[in-house]
Amino acid sequence: MSNKYIDRVLEDTINKNADQKEFIQAVKEVLTSLAPVLKANPQYEENAILERMVQPERTIIFRVPWMDDKGIIRVNRGYRVQMNSAIGPYKGGLRFDPSVNLSVLKFLAFEQVFKNSLTTLPMGGGKGGSDFNPKQSPHTPGKRCSDNEVMRFCQSFMTGLYQYIGEDTDIPAGDMNVGSREIGYLFGQYKRLANEWTGVLTGKGLSYGGSLIRPEATGYGDVYFAENMLATRGDTLEGKRCVVSGSGNVASYAAEKLMQLGAKVLTLSDRSGSLIFPDGLTAEQLAAVMELKNVKRGEFSEFKMAGAKFAPKKNPWQIVSKYDCAFPCSRQNELDGKDAAFMLKNGVKLVGEGANMPCTPDAADAFIAAKILYSPGKASNAGGVATSGLEMSQNSERVSWTRDQVDSRLKGIMKAIHDNAYEAAAKYGKKGNYVVGANIAGFTKVADAMVAQGVC
Ligand code: NAP
Repeated sequence: MSNKYIDRVLEDTINKNADQKEFIQAVKEVLTSLAPVLKANPQYEENAILERMVQPERTIIFRVPWMDDKGIIRVNRGYRVQMNSAIGPYKGGLRFDPSVNLSVLKFLAFEQVFKNSLTTLPMGGGKGGSDFNPKQSPHTPGKRCSDNEVMRFCQSFMTGLYQYIGEDTDIPAGDMNVGSREIGYLFGQYKRLANEWTGVLTGKGLSYGGSLIRPEATGYGDVYFAENMLATRGDTLEGKRCVVSGSGNVASYAAEKLMQLGAKVLTLSDRSGSLIFPDGLTAEQLAAVMELKNVKRGEFSEFKMAGAKFAPKKNPWQIVSKYDCAFPCSRQNELDGKDAAFMLKNGVKLVGEGANMPCTPDAADAFIAAKILYSPGKASNAGGVATSGLEMSQNSERVSWTRDQVDSRLKGIMKAIHDNAYEAAAKYGKKGNYVVGANIAGFTKVADAMVAQGVC
């Protein structure tokens, strides 16, 4: 359905952000699915909701100087994109990776607005990070940054950021290359600068305000969402052959939950290539993978274990011929149209995005056209931020919930997100299209709040 209002805002966004391809890709994907809801609700156009939504409320760019172990001063660029605070304080992760730029962070912040809205919790959307690369020492090729270098970088990053965040303003969390080590250093520096102990970051360690299940939440949530999708067709994960990409936070816990639910995990991947487990990943192999990635901070080219084969420089989509479910959990645009064609030809039934925007637009279109179960990341990876919301509640109340309490809240939230997206799609004549459903359900709540709050 074409819509002049959408076309006008899209054209303007493209003209004003011509060099930001990831941001334009994300805006296009959301806006082009909103035609029916904009037609039924003329107040959104009258209140210039789309024009406001594609413009961050505030973007902070700052210098991050730090000293490496050789005493040489290095300078990186830090960012925080505070996209939309209509329904709550800005909330979203920090990413440290050389690929970080304004386009990537604006796409992530834009997606985060709808994702956070879907969680049913009062959280606005934001995202931040730096082009700092903890995986490459600036002075020794082939070596990673030392813990001390990461700490000095994190302290300088927080020194640049702290005045713009706060437990009721903006609450960052982890994302790619920002895990418990980095959150600890960032939290320590915030506390020192602000002279207060508050839940200003989520993903904290358990000894200082973290929540049980937060590390597992994105991966577990992705799998819970897949269970809900399968249930609409009277099916379950039991016995399903599953291909997972990535080996970080999201991928590891998605793989763990899949195994717990009786599915067979056939692959994991990293920048060096993919590991294939022809008989299915075992708990022992997963523990070895997590030790390699999180403790030794190594790569799969070094992984040697019986029952695992290494495919150098390959992503997982075309190295296993027959599988039922795919969980892209690594990075944006990691699965393209050619991969999708191969997967559909070989009978894939479900694609559950764990990463943000891992499928290119042609891959997403192919899955939708084939009417397989396909969930966009903003819905199926929302379990992480939802559990961050639960961590914020626990911090405010100065309590800690049990593992079971948090897990059962997470399950309930993933079911609510699934049902909201499913019902919104059905209401606008697109039954089974979770992309349209998630976009409409996420958008409507934020748009209504913006209308109610006037021109701001
Ligand atoms: P992570 O722990 O840093 O893991 C990222 C994984 O992706 C690693 O296995 C990494 O391999 C791989 N990877 C990164 N860039 C790659 C490239 N260019 N080529 C091949 N592999 C690459 O990050 P994460 O937290 O799991 O996040 C993964 C995705 O989920 C991201 O899109 C993130 O935005 C999204 N997400 C995360 C959360 C969360 O709670 N963490 C929540 C929602 C969405 P190496 O180890 O070799 O670098």
